[in-house]
Amino acid sequence: MIIDIITLFPEMCERVLSESIIGRARKNGKVEIACTQLRDYAFDKHRRVDDTPYGGGMGMVMMCEPIALCFEDICKKRGSRPHFIYMSPKGKTLTQETVKQLSAYDNICILCGHYEGVDQRVLDEYIDEEISIGDYVLTGGELPALILADSISRMLDGVLSDSECFEEESHYNGLLEYPQYTKPQEWHGVGVPEVLVSGHHENVKKWRRAQSLMLTKKLRPDLYNKTELTKEDKKILSSNLCKEETEQD
Ligand code: SAM
Repeated sequence: MIIDIITLFPEMCERVLSESIIGRARKNGKVEIACTQLRDYAFDKHRRVDDTPYGGGMGMVMMCEPIALCFEDICKKRGSRPHFIYMSPKGKTLTQETVKQLSAYDNICILCGHYEGVDQRVLDEYIDEEISIGDYVLTGGELPALILADSISRMLDGVLSDSECFEEESHYNGLLEYPQYTKPQEWHGVGVPEVLVSGHHENVKKWRRAQSLMLTKKLRPDLYNKTELTKEDKKILSSNLCKEETEQD
C-alpha cells in the first residue's frame, strides 16, 4: 500500500514515520509512505499557500490551487487516483472499522490542514472523505494524519509479526482487550492470575474472553450493547469465570 501525505511539515511527519514498527515496515517495503511539501506547489515567490478569509474573521485559510496541483501531481506519479482524505474536526470520527476499510486501498492520500482550515471549494471538488480523530481541535492535521497512517499500516500484511497481534486487540471485534501481564510473576506483592501460568491454553482462552466481555461491559457499555454474544460467550458469562468479578462490582 502507498500512503501519500500532503503537508506543510514533511520533516515532522518523516521523523515519526521513520521510527519503530512503521519505520521498519517502510524499510522492508511493507508500506510506502511519502510526505509531500505543499509549498512546492505554491505559485508566488514567497511560497504562500494561505490567504485571509472572505467575510473577515481571524486566521488564514489554505488556498485551493496549491492543493489541487499537488494532488494532481501525486495522481500522475502514482498512475491512478488515490482515495483522498482530509483530516478535519468536522469529519466522521475514526474507528477501527474505518481503519480496516481504508487498509484495503492500494493508495490513499491524506491532506493535513492548518490555520483556519481549507477553502471549501477544493474540498468539495477533490476530497472523498473527511476524518476526525475526535471532538477536539488541534493546530494542524499532521498528528491526525500520523495517527491514521499508523493505524492503517499496522494492519497491512507483514507489518506486525502475526495478524493475531491486532485481531485480539481492543476494538478489532468490537470489544476491549483482556488485561496483559509479563514477568516477574509477582510484583509489589501482587501475582498474575493463576490461569495464565497454568499452561492450559483452552482455559487461558476462556479467561481472556471472559475478561474482555466484562471489561467492555464495565468501561464501554455502548460497545458491549452492540456486541452479538455467541453461545460460548453466554456460557462464559454465566460461569465461575465471571462470577467473582460480578460479585466485586
Ligand atoms: N477552523 C476549523 C474548525 O473549526 O473546524 C479548525 C481548523 S484546525 C485549527 C487546523 C487543522 O487541523 C484542520 O484543518 C485539520 O486538518 C486539523 N485538525 C484539527 N483538529 C482535528 C481533528 N480533531 N481531527 C482531524 N484533524 C484535525
